[in-house]
Amino acid sequence: MRILISADMEGATGVTHASDVIPGTEQWHRFRPIFTGDVNACVAGLFDGGATGVLVNEAHSSQRNLLLEQLDPRARMLTGRHKPLSMMQGIESEVDGVVLLGYHAGAGEDGVLAHTYLENSITGVFLDGVPASEGRLNAALAAEHGVPVLVVTGDDRTCADATEYAPTAERVAVKECVSRYAAICAPPSVTAKQIADASKAAMAIAGRVAKSVAPHRIEVEFDATHLAHAAAVIPTVELVDTRRIGFDAESMTEAMKAFKIVTAIAGGAVVEEYG
Ligand SMILES: [Zn+2]
Repeated sequence: MRILISADMEGATGVTHASDVIPGTEQWHRFRPIFTGDVNACVAGLFDGGATGVLVNEAHSSQRNLLLEQLDPRARMLTGRHKPLSMMQGIESEVDGVVLLGYHAGAGEDGVLAHTYLENSITGVFLDGVPASEGRLNAALAAEHGVPVLVVTGDDRTCADATEYAPTAERVAVKECVSRYAAICAPPSVTAKQIADASKAAMAIAGRVAKSVAPHRIEVEFDATHLAHAAAVIPTVELVDTRRIGFDAESMTEAMKAFKIVTAIAGGAVVEEYG
């Protein structure tokens, strides 16, 4: 039983502010070991539940946030950027389950550091007409590869979101959202046990399921017209409204690759100060 952990940082224990997750800041340095602690708690629980191998894929920003030197020696870590499947690299390697750790609510939703891919600029992402967080998008990708979502951790809004896209997954709310930049947080000593217990229990549903490859449509709404126009330059991407683009793809894998291009082009078109 080999398990993949997709590790994002906004939903880690104690994280509430942008500076907590922006590489190089003092607070980011402070949260690196705490984030690594969440991952280690998950790894321990998964092995207790019967996992034989765990790959941790860094999924936040530069994708160089976790402390390898503090990682549980039974796990391996995929660190660094420019991976075809980005946050979900490793899902294609016939794993038996995936954990979405440190996740957060989607763009335009209530939740600590809520966003979808771009921290600002994107006001909503829609997968087949349904508002989609990174969790929902990545769960659809996991389903396409026949991999069940075992555990989702993040704030309480992240967990509420996960009840819809991964109803059989264990959920751990490590903090209670008060605003986009405030939360009531439990200390790492408490959340570690919760994450470990949930991860152990979730191994009961580990195991590959039938792959469900199907066409998907993604639409993205931006906060400014020029971002939609910039993204609409991409072949297959169409402008569907003044601030909204959409595209169809034959599979979720192809949809996510196209989505990655859309966010890269739009992100590059953002003008500092004016957006
Ligand atoms: Zn994220």
